[in-house]
Amino acid sequence: MKKYNFNAGPSMLPREVVENTAKQILDFNGSGLSLMEISHRTKDFQSVVDESVDLFKELLSIPEGYSVVFLGGGASLQFMQIPANFLIKKAAYVNSGVWAKKAMKEAKFFGEVVEVASSAASNYTYYPKNFESNVPSDVDYLHITTNNTIYGTEYRGDFDVKVPLIADMSSDIMSRPVDVKKYDAIYAGAQKNIAMAGVTVVILKDEALEKRVRELPTMIDYHTHIDKGSMFNTPPVVPIYSMLENLRWLKEHGGLEAADKRAHERADALYSEIDRNKLFKGTVEVDSRSLMNICFVMNSGYEELEKAFLDFAVERGIVGIKGHRSVGGFRASCYNAQTMEGVNALIETMKAFEAKH
Ligand code: PLP
Repeated sequence: MKKYNFNAGPSMLPREVVENTAKQILDFNGSGLSLMEISHRTKDFQSVVDESVDLFKELLSIPEGYSVVFLGGGASLQFMQIPANFLIKKAAYVNSGVWAKKAMKEAKFFGEVVEVASSAASNYTYYPKNFESNVPSDVDYLHITTNNTIYGTEYRGDFDVKVPLIADMSSDIMSRPVDVKKYDAIYAGAQKNIAMAGVTVVILKDEALEKRVRELPTMIDYHTHIDKGSMFNTPPVVPIYSMLENLRWLKEHGGLEAADKRAHERADALYSEIDRNKLFKGTVEVDSRSLMNICFVMNSGYEELEKAFLDFAVERGIVGIKGHRSVGGFRASCYNAQTMEGVNALIETMKAFEAKH
């Protein structure tokens, strides 16, 4: 049976990306060695890193004066590495979900954290808005999480603030064009929109790092990784390769404007069905709805059908729609690799379930 993958991360990648990476895992560039066995210091692997950096810069239109590094440790390490490198005294954070809260917790090791907006009281059912004027002018930066993977809320734009802006874009990076010059740093664990798990991308404004806010352990200092072209220590070779394949795929499929259009098409179709179908309802405010993680629950009066719907979906090849435990219900993740075919299969499943009840 054909499977339709809606996992939240690690998540679906384009089939060609998986197949091309698998081929290189068996025989890297015809060398007779597996991608898992080669030295990262070879010319061939260096060109994998170089092309990946170039494609990042091209696809995201990253201006001069920015560096792109590929690190380990996940976005979770960035929760501490960002404040270690940028927080001198005080930083502002938008508390838009569990990941944002975790980022705040780590920042507190380095300085004062001001929560300038929060949707915690409503269990994060909306993306906080109109907080820009609450951001104190003397903070070292404002940290935002552009897409809240667990709750399915998103801010699909680039805030205008007078302080340096830093964003966790783990779950929507490369799904839309971004005005990179508005940011001092952007980071993302790659395992949703850009690669298999194991690599984290960090985009850094070089000028912003010139301050050198404190003495840092070597591995935590971004300069180490910029100076050594992401090769200070052994990089995650296979995940980086899978990212290269995915960046090539994105370019071949029209870049980020086309990715944004496809994301809108998928989400519009699915939200329309959620709103139409008597059995289901969305969990977040309409103007905060994420195009990446589409969260919904059983409608009032039908709550007891939740498990039956999950089983019904699995029987029809729909994988990974069980919602996160803090929201319940269902979450259909529709990152770049998701297809209209997959979305339509889910919609048909919802309709068929409605017909039965
Ligand atoms: N930030 C966001 C928005 C996430 O969705 C996640 C993981 O799902 C993380 C951070 C943590 O990422 P990692 O597991 O790469 O540390």
